[in-house]
Amino acid sequence: MREVTCPACGAIVEAETDDELLEGARAHTWDAHRYKIPDEHVLDAAGDQQA
Ligand SMILES: [Zn+2]
Repeated sequence: MREVTCPACGAIVEAETDDELLEGARAHTWDAHRYKIPDEHVLDAAGDQQA
């Protein structure tokens, strides 16, 4: 499980894989903030969750 917290609003995006996490983070930052987050920023911020 991968997880990243949006720095702008604190929303948590969770996904099973890095690809899904990038998709979810892009969708959230664009829909909520009209901001296109770079992939490396998402991966840098992503934490590993042992679920
Ligand atoms: Zn946000």
